[in-house]
Amino acid sequence: NREWHLVSRPVGWPKTEDFALVEAEVPQPGEGQVLVRNAYVSVDPYMRGRMSAAKSYVAPYELGKVMQGGAVGEVVASNAEGIEVGDHLLHFLGWREFAVVDAKQAVKVDPQAAPLSTYLGVLGMTGLTAYAGLLRTASFKEGDSVFVSGAAGAVGSQVGQIAKLKGASRVIGSAGSDEKVKLLVEEYGFDAAFNYKNGPVSEQLRAAAPDGVDVYFDNVGGDHLEAAIGSLNRDGRIAICGAISVYNSTEPVSGPKNLARLIQTRGRIEGFLVGDHYDLQAQFVQEVGAWVRSGELKYSETVVEGIENNLEAFFGVLRGDNVGKMIVKL
Ligand code: NDP
Repeated sequence: NREWHLVSRPVGWPKTEDFALVEAEVPQPGEGQVLVRNAYVSVDPYMRGRMSAAKSYVAPYELGKVMQGGAVGEVVASNAEGIEVGDHLLHFLGWREFAVVDAKQAVKVDPQAAPLSTYLGVLGMTGLTAYAGLLRTASFKEGDSVFVSGAAGAVGSQVGQIAKLKGASRVIGSAGSDEKVKLLVEEYGFDAAFNYKNGPVSEQLRAAAPDGVDVYFDNVGGDHLEAAIGSLNRDGRIAICGAISVYNSTEPVSGPKNLARLIQTRGRIEGFLVGDHYDLQAQFVQEVGAWVRSGELKYSETVVEGIENNLEAFFGVLRGDNVGKMIVKL
C-alpha cells in the first residue's frame, strides 16, 4: 500500500522534494468503516492551497501525513451496514492505494450507470462546480454572452458547453495552447476562443467578444479578471471560481485596477464554493447526465497511470498538461 505524504510546505511552485511516496501497511476497517482499493484518484488545483499552512476553507495537509483528495474505488472489506464487498464508493481519501473510509463519509456510485472516473469529473465535483457557478452564482440566463477562462479544463469545458446548451448568445473561452483553442471551437462548440499566451488578454477578449460579456466565469484571476471587467456589459455578473494564475505566487497579489467599472455596469462579482451547492446535486446529475448520455455535452479526461505518477499528474494540472479532468488511474 503506497501513499503520498507532504514532507515540506512548498514555496512557489511545488517541487518533488516536498513530497514522499511511502510504503505503509494496508489499514484494517473498524466498526462502521470499509476498506477500499482506490481505482481512480483526483488531482485538483485546490490541493495547492492545502499544501500551505495558511488558513482557508479546508484544513491544510499535515506534514508527514498522507494527503487527501477525491477518489473512487472498490470495497474489499466491509464493517459497515449496507455496504458490501464489491460495491464502489466515492470518498475523499485519495493519494493512496488503499483507504479505510467511514461509511458515513462515502457515497455509493454505480459503475454500470457511468464510467467510474466520471464521478470525479463530468458527473462529480468539477461538474457541479461548473453547473452551480454558472446557473446559480452567475445567474446565467438565455441570451447571455459568456466568457470562461481555463476553458479547456475540467470545470471550464463544462461551463462553456452548459451555457451553449442553455441558450447563450455567444460563448468565448481562453486556454493556454493553440491545440486547446482548436478543441474548444471544433469539439466543444465554443463560438470563439483564444490562447492567452499569444497576447494581452484584454485585447484578445475584445476581439473575441466585440459586444462585451454578460457573464464571466473566472478560473484564473489576474489579467483575465481585469480584462473581463473591462468587457463587462450592463448588469454583468462575474462568478469567481478559482484564481489558478496566482496559486504559486510568492508575492502578495493585487486586485484588478478597474473595479470602478462595476459602477457603470451595475456589475456584480461573487465568489462561490462548490461545497455550498450540493443541494443542486440531484438536479445536476439528472440534467448533465442526460446530456452526457446523448452526446450533447462532451468531456475529456487526461488519465495518468500509477500511484507513483500521482504527484507528476498534480504538477501537470498546474502546468496545463491536461485537457478536461486530470485523473490518476491506479
Ligand atoms: P483544470 O482542469 O482547469 O486544470 C487547471 C488548468 O489551469 C490547467 O489545465 C491550465 O490550463 C490552467 N492554468 C494553469 N496556470 C494558468 C495560468 N497562469 N493562467 C491561466 N490558466 C492557467 O482544473 P479544474 O477544472 O479542476 O479547476 C479550475 C479552477 O476552478 C481552478 O482555479 C480551481 O481552483 C477552481 N475550482 C474551484 C471550486 C470552487 O468550489 N470554487 C471547485 C473546483 C475547482 P491552460 O493550458 O489553459 O493554462
